[in-house]
Amino acid sequence: MTRKLIAGNWKMNGSLAANVALVQPLLAGVGSTPGCDVAVCAPAPYLAQVQSLLAGAQAIALGAQDVSQHESGAFTGDVSAAMLKDFGVRYAIAGHSERRLHQGETDMQVAAKAKRALAAGITPIVCVGETLREREEGMTEFIVKRQLSAVIHLNGHCISEIVVAYEPVWAIGTGQTATPEQAQAVHAVLRAQLKAATGHAQRVRILYGGSMNAANAAQLLAQPDIDGGLIGGASLKAPDFLQIIAAAA
Ligand code: PEP
Repeated sequence: MTRKLIAGNWKMNGSLAANVALVQPLLAGVGSTPGCDVAVCAPAPYLAQVQSLLAGAQAIALGAQDVSQHESGAFTGDVSAAMLKDFGVRYAIAGHSERRLHQGETDMQVAAKAKRALAAGITPIVCVGETLREREEGMTEFIVKRQLSAVIHLNGHCISEIVVAYEPVWAIGTGQTATPEQAQAVHAVLRAQLKAATGHAQRVRILYGGSMNAANAAQLLAQPDIDGGLIGGASLKAPDFLQIIAAAA
């Protein structure tokens, strides 16, 4: 069994003071050897601060919420994988549904972002997931397979180095979680797709994200193909995030 990964996505939240108030109790709570891998994905301006807050502690890895699809140059506002690497970033979210929706990121762009991250030695957390309408129209499998297939296509044999996050759009920030059975069914589809692409599909961690919290984490994480969680709202409250980490250990 792969070691589970619990990653917090702070989204556009935080401040110098709030980050200290969040990271300190997290470090104290996880101790030196948590039973799962833990990461926090901070907003880009705070990466240096959170890197230094985490410095010396191996227990919590630093993550970014996005990475440019370009290597360097005239891409105002973009942050390259090499820049993230400079600040000790280990994971970068690629293709979060909020970016697909608000920034119009396409499957191909998400695949290119994953490739840039991998080339810099950063693990991309590639997000896939259907909207409520797509689910109601019976399109869930088609959508998530299409989204993952672009990433597989562009990343070839490196595909076993990525992390996938299944995040049904209708469950993100809504308090409406997929049931463990609904989530497992989609995770199994993604695992089968990975198996067709690599002999190492079993070691690719497939996280669930979408209103995961201290109360529902254990049941979701008990599913055979759920290898961790990508946590939004609940990752901003240290006690809640610590309970989710405990459920994954
Ligand atoms: C997310 O932003 O990736 C997420 C899963 O958010 P939430 O946990 O708040 O639904």
